[in-house]
Amino acid sequence: MSSIADNIGSVTRRIQKATLQAGRSPGSVRLLAVSKTRPAEDLREAFAAGQVAFGENYVQEALEKQEALADLPDMEWHFIGPIQSNKTRQIASSFDWVHSVDRLKIARRLNDQRGDTLPPLNICLQVNINEEESKSGCRVDQLPGLVEAVGELPNLRLRGLMAIPDPSQPEAELRASFRKLANTLKALKGDHPDAGPLDTLSMGMSGDLELAIAEGATWVRVGTALFGERPAKS
Ligand SMILES: *Cc1c(COP(=O)(O)O)cnc(C)c1O
Repeated sequence: MSSIADNIGSVTRRIQKATLQAGRSPGSVRLLAVSKTRPAEDLREAFAAGQVAFGENYVQEALEKQEALADLPDMEWHFIGPIQSNKTRQIASSFDWVHSVDRLKIARRLNDQRGDTLPPLNICLQVNINEEESKSGCRVDQLPGLVEAVGELPNLRLRGLMAIPDPSQPEAELRASFRKLANTLKALKGDHPDAGPLDTLSMGMSGDLELAIAEGATWVRVGTALFGERPAKS
């Protein structure tokens, strides 16, 4: 079995190769290590191998790991899971980024609970790009209103969009989904130049990060290719 450090090396090479092939500048794509269900020691090992940013889906699990890893203050924490409103306080105070904001109520709570002692919370709006039933994320047609309103919230920094396109699509359609997210961000940036940096596309996972990078991903969220298969969630 390959070590986490080996896996970080090979995923980093995949990212570099795809970035080069897309004619994009080196370093324009960052690796988010998705560490849900993984023990804190796996994150420690990844950090020792140079990985800085970690993505977690479950609040309680993430807080326990943060406590176990409190001796490593340079770790960057990203929340990427569905958000219940009774969890926003902990998310607002314990994360650097949230990729999965999909409604104004959640954005307002994160803004109010972030307060102004911490730097603004980086957020992405999650989009249900393939309009799947039972999927988190807002619709594309809800984005202009959301961007307008979220852009007014002083303790949030609106960085861009996140999506999890249906991975069972044929490759051409998957790629078209990534392109649609990229074009949507471009249009929003043109229409709402003051809403925030809007410089971020969080898209692409273990199986499709090359396609996402070809279409402009700036964060790829990778779990399995770094840490191995996850146990089924009980
Ligand atoms: C689990 C998860 C990932 C990582 O998926 P892999 O296929 O294991 O790379 C990425 N993004 C989100 C939102 C996830 O929940």
